[in-house]
Amino acid sequence: MQIEELRLDGNAVGGILREVFTHEMTNVLATCVGCGSKGRIAELLQYAHPMGVVLRCPTCDRAEVRIVRTSTFYCVDIAGVQLLMTPESVSPATGE
Ligand SMILES: [Zn+2]
Repeated sequence: MQIEELRLDGNAVGGILREVFTHEMTNVLATCVGCGSKGRIAELLQYAHPMGVVLRCPTCDRAEVRIVRTSTFYCVDIAGVQLLMTPESVSPATGE
């Protein structure tokens, strides 16, 4: 099998993205790019501004997440996050 046979466009990832981003995001674990510490998004330090928010690492003060609201979009910068970890979704059909 050639690698080109495995390649699809971004529409193919719609299902898994819906699973990942349906969680309560404050419970998602984020690993800081700056110091490697891992903690819940809820534990980051928020600096709010009318245009949006900056979430900083409580250990090293690096900006992990920046969210800016425009008239048409939310711009989300997670360049300060090395890894986001969410639990797997619970199946609504089985409850497991
Ligand atoms: Zn840090």
